[in-house]
Amino acid sequence: MDIIVIGAGAAGLWAAERVARGGRSVLLLEKTSRAGTKILASGGTRCNLTTTLAADAAARLFGPAERFMQPALRALPPARVRERFHALGVPTVEEPELEKVFPASDKAIDVRDALLRAALSARVDLRYDSAVRSVEPSGDGWTVATPQDRFTCQKVILCAGGSSYPRTGCTGDGYTWLRTLDLPVIDPVPALVPLRSSAPWVHALSGISLPQTEARLLDAAGRTIARRARPVLFTHVGLSGPGAMDLSAHVARGGTWTIALDLMPTLSDQELQRMLVDAAGRPGGCRLIRAIGEGLPARVLGAAAHQAGITEENPALHQLDRTRRLKLVDALKGLRVPISGVLGWDHAEVTAGGLALEAVDRRTFEVRRYPGLFVIGELLDLTGPIGGLNFQAAFSSAEAAARHLAG
Ligand SMILES: Cc1cc2nc3c(=O)[nH]c(=O)nc-3n(C[C@H](O)[C@H](O)[C@H](O)COP(=O)(O)OP(=O)(O)OC[C@H]3O[C@@H](n4cnc5c(N)ncnc54)[C@H](O)[C@@H]3O)c2cc1C
Repeated sequence: MDIIVIGAGAAGLWAAERVARGGRSVLLLEKTSRAGTKILASGGTRCNLTTTLAADAAARLFGPAERFMQPALRALPPARVRERFHALGVPTVEEPELEKVFPASDKAIDVRDALLRAALSARVDLRYDSAVRSVEPSGDGWTVATPQDRFTCQKVILCAGGSSYPRTGCTGDGYTWLRTLDLPVIDPVPALVPLRSSAPWVHALSGISLPQTEARLLDAAGRTIARRARPVLFTHVGLSGPGAMDLSAHVARGGTWTIALDLMPTLSDQELQRMLVDAAGRPGGCRLIRAIGEGLPARVLGAAAHQAGITEENPALHQLDRTRRLKLVDALKGLRVPISGVLGWDHAEVTAGGLALEAVDRRTFEVRRYPGLFVIGELLDLTGPIGGLNFQAAFSSAEAAARHLAG
């Protein structure tokens, strides 16, 4: 056997097919009885398979992994992923406002089936119910053991995913192999996961969504650590929606956090202040809800007024002195939501943490200390925000390793 690929998820299916097309014999071992389970569950079963962004803009969204991801994203940019799916019989459509790309059919199963068909037609030997127990160097190759078999191969690609959504078969097995090989693993934590808040006023707003907001993550000293302009949803336990979930990896590592929600993202502080002053000056005065208009739910405006120390839910603006008006502007431009943690692995779309990137050659995804060992996809310490970036990272890293292996 030339190459063993471990894990028939997004990265494994892509890599196995590309390597097999290059003429190498490929064994793909999958723990569960089906391939691409997370693809099937993704994007609310619609599968947001990539982004509308170009390679460098997509790389920027990987934060500290931006430089690491650049070569792979340039070699297989989002547009090329779309072309590939078109060629596999899965045309795609854009949702440009959130930079997302979906199959035109809106069916995740079409994406999974296309990858699976391509792998099988390239003569990949796919074995289900083959949970890999160990991966060890042996001679000038590798030995991979499942409860039933021991296989030897020249090269091995690890793509067993992370620990999120354990019911899909991803229970962090890859981290054990990496640690056994004495490779550096950044502690895995749940990411792209809803946030908890213990403030009852937050729970009381459950069901209200803010489609136009910017969420800022503040540390204990009030410094902005990260920000994301995406929709946010109040839930019975805290905050959800992409704006909140995109900030969750920081929270999952512990500490004291606050989310500041900009309720008026299209206005600067000064413009908002002027608007409130103008509204207060209208004949007969004007109340907050009327001044702000239909755009924001009254209960959220009430929460902002309360946070500004105003007892009335819908205050008359001409009765506010300058100090209280400034406090109101502050609350509207950054409604403070105390955060107490994240929901657990069962609710996390991805895992942050994994194999430290400095252990890997970013052009080939080969592990520096172990020639012949490749690590791709979510098992690496890289996490993109919601919006197709994580599948894109899986495909781009798979393509980079496969090109190298196929020679
Ligand atoms: C509910 C949900 C929705 C999501 N929606 C999106 C989305 O719309 N867009 C997006 O970009 N990302 C989305 N993601 C994230 C995306 O699914 C992952 O980032 C992506 O699947 C990672 O690909 P991977 O191949 O590295 O790992 P996975 O796709 O998780 O594949 C890993 C495979 O390895 C197998 N495996 C595990 N252990 C072993 C073992 N010991 N032996 C053999 N096989 C093993 C697993 O069974 C699995 O098949 C979503 C995730 C979830 C959970």
